[in-house]
Amino acid sequence: MASLAGIEHWDEEADVVIVGYGLAGATAAIEARDRDPGADILILEKLGAQHAGGNSRVSGQSLLISKDKEALKDYQRALSRPNPIPEEMLDAWAARMVELEPYIEARAKEAGARYIHSAGWSERGRILEFPEYGAEQAVAHTATILPVPSGVWLAFEACVKRRRIRIAHDTPIVDLVQDPDTLEVFGVIAQRGERRIAVKAKRAVVMACGGFENNLDMQRNYFGLAHCAPLGTPGNTGDGIRILQKAGAALWHLRNQGQSGGIWPGFRFPGHDTVFLRTLFWQSFSWIDIASDDQRFFDETAEWQLTHYKQKLQGEYIDTPHHRVGRMHMLFDETTRRHNRLVTEVMTWNSVVEGYGWSEDNANEIERGWIVRGESIEDLAARIGRDPTAVAATVDRYNRACREGVDTEFGRNAATLQPIAAPPYYAIEIVPAIVCTGGGARRNIESEVLDHAGRPIARLYEAGELGSMFSNLYQNGSYLTEAMISGRAAGRNAVARSPW
Ligand SMILES: Cc1cc2nc3c(=O)[nH]c(=O)nc-3n(C[C@H](O)[C@H](O)[C@H](O)COP(=O)(O)OP(=O)(O)OC[C@H]3O[C@@H](n4cnc5c(N)ncnc54)[C@H](O)[C@@H]3O)c2cc1C
Repeated sequence: MASLAGIEHWDEEADVVIVGYGLAGATAAIEARDRDPGADILILEKLGAQHAGGNSRVSGQSLLISKDKEALKDYQRALSRPNPIPEEMLDAWAARMVELEPYIEARAKEAGARYIHSAGWSERGRILEFPEYGAEQAVAHTATILPVPSGVWLAFEACVKRRRIRIAHDTPIVDLVQDPDTLEVFGVIAQRGERRIAVKAKRAVVMACGGFENNLDMQRNYFGLAHCAPLGTPGNTGDGIRILQKAGAALWHLRNQGQSGGIWPGFRFPGHDTVFLRTLFWQSFSWIDIASDDQRFFDETAEWQLTHYKQKLQGEYIDTPHHRVGRMHMLFDETTRRHNRLVTEVMTWNSVVEGYGWSEDNANEIERGWIVRGESIEDLAARIGRDPTAVAATVDRYNRACREGVDTEFGRNAATLQPIAAPPYYAIEIVPAIVCTGGGARRNIESEVLDHAGRPIARLYEAGELGSMFSNLYQNGSYLTEAMISGRAAGRNAVARSPW
């Protein structure tokens, strides 16, 4: 922490300083302004205006809508069983969740956007992830705000703009200003170009600066992932965790199972900081995935997106194996190449913010060398540095399963057993891709950051996926709604404080 006594002058000041301009930060700002129209609110965002919006902007924009508080509580309690969420937090969260829909509709209306029941890019009106734990009862709808992509983010961004809330871009915070004895927070230290600036927060600071998806060292040490990369913003590098640790906060949920959002198959290429997400919807199935031993390793065509890439083994959900099988490739034939754009365009940083337009028939990516082509399976295997005989044997075994209509190895759905038989053949390397992380400072439902004795640190709030309450499994649409609920609590409580 930076000590208050060491501050000679403040470069800027505001009543409430909000760190991070994703959905949690935007919601906190909207709420603070609406509760006190005279309050001066300042958002400090690490990235430039073109790149703001965080994971919120590039997410699937699915919102969980629930109408049954008790059913929602029971469901989430079951999902969090190995690391229980404090019961009073769960209760208040569920109560706020069942009242959230009119709030979201009001933001859409204010922005002149359309609120709909459905994720916008899937036929399903409801995405039910874990029926055996009570999804049917807990989830009333999956909802979103149009357009696809980014609709929810765009609506909240429009609401921030309408309120003329100040935003300082390219201004990452690096520290909190505190009293070293009491831990009370008085402002932040931020980096502006070459200069460190001190920003006074007369009432409070809200930390809403996301997770550590783009910090490999934290991934390795907190979660044990050897190599992985983010699907979302490159700006989330765990700064909030480092800063809150220094500030004396207790940490939690750093190693939630699979970081709740799961570990998905992605594609990464030089010149791109983040990862492309493999498509979720297939027109043909003449493809398999192989691991470092040249063998298949899981049921590739199960709808893993419906459990956030968790598989049930021995009665418990764990992550699918992508993060622990070494170097992976997807192998496919000409039929799959021609009929499937290999990546999704409705979410992820590369598609939504960088605007990379992946070619419909993957031809440009073959041209770039991202997809490798071979005239035979053996030729392809040699080109990607694998054992041609072993890879050919794996493909032969899979093609035999297709002829027999039964995948005895992994139980792949018979309707998706299509042989890899139309030359030429192709390979693309798969990397484990992170949706989002949830670890951060322990907080309560009022978004107050707690110290190691469970006491709130005065004038310090936290919202969104930084310090998320989700500790284990996760239902689609819960992170964005949590960003709203925790952001609203943070904004409301921060602005209610008297200036110091
Ligand atoms: C591909 C993808 C799909 C997803 N789909 C869904 C979905 O459909 N439904 C759902 O509920 N959730 C989904 N999620 C998860 C959800 O998007 C996130 O959990 C949520 O957006 C987090 O919001 P946030 O405001 O906490 O963080 P973010 O939106 O990530 O914002 C954090 C901001 O903080 C900034 N920042 C970082 N460090 C600093 C610093 N030192 N100083 C200042 N600013 C800083 C970052 O640049 C960023 O702009 C998805 C995520 C991804 C990546």
